[in-house]
Amino acid sequence: MAISAKPLRCVVCVKQVPDTKQITGDAMKPDGTINRAALPAIFNPEDRCALEAALGVRDACGGTVSVVTMGLPSATAILRESLFCGADDAYLVTDRRAAASDTLATSYILSQAVRKFNPDLVFCGRPAIDGDTAQTGPQIGEKLDCAVVTYLEKLELDGDVAIATRDIGTGVETCRAKLPALFTVTEKFGELRPYELRRGMKYKNAEPTILDCAAIGCEDGRCGFAGSPTSVNKIESVVLAGGEFKEVPPTDEGIGGLVSELIKDHTIG
Ligand SMILES: Cc1cc2nc3c(=O)[nH]c(=O)nc-3n(C[C@H](O)[C@H](O)[C@H](O)COP(=O)(O)OP(=O)(O)OC[C@H]3O[C@@H](n4cnc5c(N)ncnc54)[C@H](O)[C@@H]3O)c2cc1C
Repeated sequence: MAISAKPLRCVVCVKQVPDTKQITGDAMKPDGTINRAALPAIFNPEDRCALEAALGVRDACGGTVSVVTMGLPSATAILRESLFCGADDAYLVTDRRAAASDTLATSYILSQAVRKFNPDLVFCGRPAIDGDTAQTGPQIGEKLDCAVVTYLEKLELDGDVAIATRDIGTGVETCRAKLPALFTVTEKFGELRPYELRRGMKYKNAEPTILDCAAIGCEDGRCGFAGSPTSVNKIESVVLAGGEFKEVPPTDEGIGGLVSELIKDHTIG
């Protein structure tokens, strides 16, 4: 990565999420909400890649990496993990006024927190594996009025210009964005570096700086329920039950018979 003329201020938005890979029949409560007790809480996987992107910028250009999360105090666990891996400081936005925030209110509150740092680069994961809208990052960028580059898989810097390689599904696109800019990072960026033992010892009991909505200048009407136009109509827990199975002999006739059946019942064709 080319060196920037000045040290760069990076902010990473990280989210603690229920591990949706561990979903069982107990994952939903009877009222349709997530049974968080039934699922372990983890560091959102692509936010780890976002942190790695920011640490890479600091390695190359100097500067600082701050991590910010909005959530419950239990989210301190992922902030500590970020400190173990190299983040300089950690901030927890936690406030009852933020409860029931949809992506619009969440991105407003996070944008107010991020704005305080006057960052050159902001990194988010592309999606959080629980809500999975991938809206929060771009909405933060829109509120900060900076360039937004989604699906980042590689980043170079040339002075105050980012040269970003984006995953566009069928290939990659390279684009240039003048800083300040916000990036949503995909898993293709690469894994977060491992813990440093020395930092693990130093930060094992570290507490983040706590911010509430007032401290970051949020208007009440834009937070929580009041600032959330989304209404959830219905949540259903879909549990796939196993059906009958049929053995197909590994012969031309067996495979041919299976294909004919799948065409007949419109599964393929
Ligand atoms: C009507 C409604 C009410 C809701 N009420 C609640 C509630 O009471 N409590 C609750 O926890 N959730 C609530 N949610 C869910 C909440 O809105 C979303 O979790 C949040 O907006 C993020 O959206 P997402 O999960 O789709 O993240 P995405 O948009 O997929 O996330 C993309 C990236 O944005 C960043 N990001 C997202 N969320 C955060 C965060 N909290 N902190 C830091 N970075 C973040 C991360 O970098 C992440 O990788 C509610 C949603 C709706 C629609």
